[in-house]
Amino acid sequence: MALHPDLQGILINEAQIQARVQELADQISRDFAHITNNLYLVGVLKGAFIFLADLARHISVPHRVDFMAVSSYGITAHSGEVRVIMDLREPIEGKHVILVEDIVDTGKTLNYLYKTLLGRKPASLHTCTFARKKRDGVDVPVDYLGFEIPDEWVVGYGLDHADTHRTLPFIAELKREVYSKS
Ligand code: 5GP
Repeated sequence: MALHPDLQGILINEAQIQARVQELADQISRDFAHITNNLYLVGVLKGAFIFLADLARHISVPHRVDFMAVSSYGITAHSGEVRVIMDLREPIEGKHVILVEDIVDTGKTLNYLYKTLLGRKPASLHTCTFARKKRDGVDVPVDYLGFEIPDEWVVGYGLDHADTHRTLPFIAELKREVYSKS
């Protein structure tokens, strides 16, 4: 199938994604093997929904999933402040929580969510992100990282551009001219 004209090329293909997600799930399953019924995966909507769905199905220890949604408001997608627009259904006090994000760019979103969830007194709090952009000066705690990627706008595997391309099974780079137009 031809690549959509807005896309520059495939950065991470489907097989690479699936292999890495399996590795992350194996690592999490080993690290949390001692947790019998208190493990919670918290997915951040919308971007993490596909990653979370794959990850959760590969994790072999019992766990539950919940979701939050955030939005950043400001001039561009990542210049503004972060705001919770949909919160968890259940309290997380005393639970072992893994926060599952799609991508870390400036780190603002993950930092905000990390602090917010930590304030709710979970038994432990870890972070898992599908991708992180190579950038200077970003210092966020990522315990489980899928891929380090270049500082370009990427889509697919849950990630969008203006709510399109989310369901592509691979990660692709958006052409610069498409990104800078919007
Ligand atoms: P940060 O707060 O780390 O600057 O930005 C994180 C959020 O911005 C991510 O959760 C994601 O929603 C969005 N984001 C950052 N970079 C990209 C990208 O390359 N593609 C897409 N689709 N979203 C991105």
